[in-house]
Amino acid sequence: MLKIGCHLSSSKGFEHMGREALKINANTFQFFTRNPRGGSAKSIDPDDAARLMELTRQHGFGPLVAHAPYTLNPCSKDQKTRDFAYMAMADDLARMEYIPGNYYNFHPGSHVGQGTEKGIELIAQMLNDILKPEMQTTVLLETMAGKGSEIGGKFEELAAIRALLRPELQEKVGVCLDTCHVHDGGYDIVHDLDGVLDEFDRFVGLGHLKALHINDSMNPMAAHKDRHAKIGEGHIGTEAMVRIIGHPKLQGLPCILETPQEDLDGYGKEIEMLKKEYKK
Ligand code: FE
Ligand code: FE
Ligand code: ZN
Repeated sequence: MLKIGCHLSSSKGFEHMGREALKINANTFQFFTRNPRGGSAKSIDPDDAARLMELTRQHGFGPLVAHAPYTLNPCSKDQKTRDFAYMAMADDLARMEYIPGNYYNFHPGSHVGQGTEKGIELIAQMLNDILKPEMQTTVLLETMAGKGSEIGGKFEELAAIRALLRPELQEKVGVCLDTCHVHDGGYDIVHDLDGVLDEFDRFVGLGHLKALHINDSMNPMAAHKDRHAKIGEGHIGTEAMVRIIGHPKLQGLPCILETPQEDLDGYGKEIEMLKKEYKK
């Protein structure tokens, strides 16, 4: 069964997001763990978290995806920025234990002139320092569009980060594939989806692919831009998106819309359309 949902605001708490998801027939969703551009996080309400877990069990939700703030950059040149990355990820993961068994997705980071190799090392170092095998959350590296000095625009970079992880953390770190980002990054998921998935499998291993961000792209392939479009209104198109969510090798993965919708209703319609096309 298709696991599909969208990014939701966490301002009214955990259970509220579950109820919002149900309103639009979603069976997964994504949320920011804290202000995406700042740093502060609300203190956790364990009862609210427990009510969400109960709701997701009752309604057969797939795994949920928490998204780290954009300002989290473990491979910054600046020590203060790296310190924030450590603090924010450690704190977010501690709070994720109240909603066990879900995903924590982050942008690997930008090396800002230090070089890809150094960036990869710093990212892996943070994961090795913060993650513990007993944590109940799987951390996901998001595939990026490769803008500026972003790490994660190539599958081999994500594989290189995973290769530096302590052996006991190998199963704690997976990948979230963002369709807009990989398309902007130069992977032709429109005309050669099988080829792209084969390449992912060769470098990272499809078993480590845990979630999809399903976004159309405002820019042509390999633009290295990262501007999301509504499904069917960009260079990927509805047909290719339906092939992606329906691909036999991608079944069961939570599919999260991060499209520029104005309101919940917009996401509801996008979900309804994709579900209908998926069944054909
Ligand atoms: Fe993201
Ligand atoms: Fe994304
Ligand atoms: Zn993006």
